[in-house]
Amino acid sequence: KIKVAGGQGFRFYAPAMNARALERLDLERDLREAIRQGGLSLHYQPQIDLRNGQIIGAEALARWQHPRRGWVSPGDFIPVAEESGLIGPLGKWVLHEACRQNQAWQTAGLPPVTVAVNLSALQFAAYDVVDLTSAILRETGLAPEYLELELTESAAMADTLAFIEATQRLKELSISLSLDDFGTGFSSLGYLRQFRIDRLKIDQTFVNDIVQDPGSAAIVTAIINLAHSLNLAAIAEGVETEAQLQFLRAHDCDEMQGYYFSRPLPASEFEALLRSERLLAFPAETVAASRT
Ligand code: C2E
Ligand code: MG
Ligand code: MG
Ligand code: MG
Repeated sequence: KIKVAGGQGFRFYAPAMNARALERLDLERDLREAIRQGGLSLHYQPQIDLRNGQIIGAEALARWQHPRRGWVSPGDFIPVAEESGLIGPLGKWVLHEACRQNQAWQTAGLPPVTVAVNLSALQFAAYDVVDLTSAILRETGLAPEYLELELTESAAMADTLAFIEATQRLKELSISLSLDDFGTGFSSLGYLRQFRIDRLKIDQTFVNDIVQDPGSAAIVTAIINLAHSLNLAAIAEGVETEAQLQFLRAHDCDEMQGYYFSRPLPASEFEALLRSERLLAFPAETVAASRT
């Protein structure tokens, strides 16, 4: 609805749209400031090897504590970053910080783990991710074997040939690659063997329902089998219950992450967890089931 505002001269605006646009601009300005002033942080969620229960990696997840709004979810600020061109500087900061932190843990003598960093499709399209990654590895001194990039099916499908080429060059650097939220996008299975990726991350919406919903159980099993027949590993995300864990173990899923073992943790808490060498405890029945 268009209204005429009083005051000097005439201004036309739609109140609801205006409020939303202003709110967006606010958020964008504050995010730009946060990136510049060190207002972002990373939390680390352990990734577990389902053969032995050991922590083998951590997914780095961006966190933003807004001075007035409190914690803003990445589900809200990543899209803002993507739409405003801030995903470049944000993504660069995340990659640098994750590599720096992982190198610091290794220097401190902690058990070596891989750090996994999310790349948005937009970042992949607009920036030279390969140059950026190799520069950051050089700067931080992290060995490429301890970095994994999480790519999305939408990045793969936006420009498939460019994606294949970039993943090839990334593999030449010896870093690991995974396809995140697998099963929710529309990637062509035919391309899958041309992508030089190492693992499929089974989307948490399927994992959520494996116990109650035979359809989700079938999809999870199919993704695990697909991964293995292409010589890839399968990692399940969003594992919250013992029953889900049992299902995954019984169906030979390689790795897991989820609240069942740990939420994403601030760096200091993840470090304490690594130091404690805590293992994922397998329920007894699972061991029996997975050994048959
Ligand atoms: P994602 O990469 O699929 O990350 C997994 C999300 O699931 C994370 O949400 C994590 O906190 C949450 N999660 C982990 N375990 C469980 C569980 O057991 N149950 C439930 N319900 N959730 C679980 P988060 O941290 O809110 O991040 C949401 C999304 O934002 C990420 O999804 C990723 O797509 C994006 N994101 C986060 N950090 C970054 C970043 O640094 N760069 C980019 N480009 N995207 C990021
Ligand atoms: Mg991810
Ligand atoms: Mg995911
Ligand atoms: Mg997800």
